[in-house]
Amino acid sequence: MLRSTTYQDVRGAAARIAPYAHRTPVLRSRRINEELGADVVFKCENFQRMGAFKFRGAFNALSRFTPDQRRAGVVTYSSGNHAQAIALSARLLDIPATIIMPHDAPASKVQATKGYGGQVVVYDRYTEDREEIGRALAAERGLTLIPPYDHPDVIAGQGTAAAELFEEVGDLDALFVPLGGGGLLAGTALSTRALSPGCALYGVEPEAGDDGRRSLIQGSIVHIDTPRTIADGAQTQHLGAHPFEIIRREVNDVLTVTDAELVGSMRVFGTVMKIIVEPTGCLGFAAVRRSAEGLRGRRVGVIVSGGNVDLDRYAALLTS
Ligand SMILES: *Cc1c(COP(=O)(O)O)cnc(C)c1O
Repeated sequence: MLRSTTYQDVRGAAARIAPYAHRTPVLRSRRINEELGADVVFKCENFQRMGAFKFRGAFNALSRFTPDQRRAGVVTYSSGNHAQAIALSARLLDIPATIIMPHDAPASKVQATKGYGGQVVVYDRYTEDREEIGRALAAERGLTLIPPYDHPDVIAGQGTAAAELFEEVGDLDALFVPLGGGGLLAGTALSTRALSPGCALYGVEPEAGDDGRRSLIQGSIVHIDTPRTIADGAQTQHLGAHPFEIIRREVNDVLTVTDAELVGSMRVFGTVMKIIVEPTGCLGFAAVRRSAEGLRGRRVGVIVSGGNVDLDRYAALLTS
């Protein structure tokens, strides 16, 4: 039986991270509102420390370590942002960090992880099982494994972004959230049901990796091969068990968008709002643009989950 995470855990996380995390801005655009005919608020986690919401969950999890766990260190696997989040949180808390990263992770993410003092171990994401490597390293070296999404303390930390959003803007009619392994969506669901219970909540994933949508329909976790998509933060093969337990109960639906729609949203963020958002961070807004007809006259929230993208890759995506 999984220990259920609750909104109380989100409040605890909020208190723990407050002295360290940024309270990120909520942005609006008159032009986007006019184009969509809705009132849209963007919770901009691209301005979070290390450039994504993942700092919230990672810092919350590490700050709950016992003295023995702190001394031995943390290990994790990640395609990027969780790696940086663990590396930075570990440095702030003076905990040694080992990070298992895919060989083809974006260079900026690998560099940033090393820059924060994390020790990087590389694996092939198309042939090797990172969870197995993580468990083996944890057992060998006595490290504590903090996975990117399938952990109650990570979920509680991720829920603090939406909690801040509702505190700032009040009730919403609908909220759109990027979905990979489900930590962000599950945490967001806890805050949404506590602070704006009537708000419709949507997870959004890349069309090439629609395992979340299929899991919700089927009622159990669907596993897929690593999807080929520009949304590298959502290249997960399945939802986590902890997040799924919350998502199946609290989330209205899971939607999908194409890579081309992600690029379209990156372009709008850049040209209209003057912000750099990584492809995965565009999932929520891309779904809003696709669903615009049904959102007319509504108050709509979007979690902009991160902004870590190599500038060369960003330029190439926009000109492709
Ligand atoms: C990790 C990540 C996601 C997906 O979060 P999950 O908790 O795995 O669902 C979305 N956007 C960005 C920028 C991320 O780094």
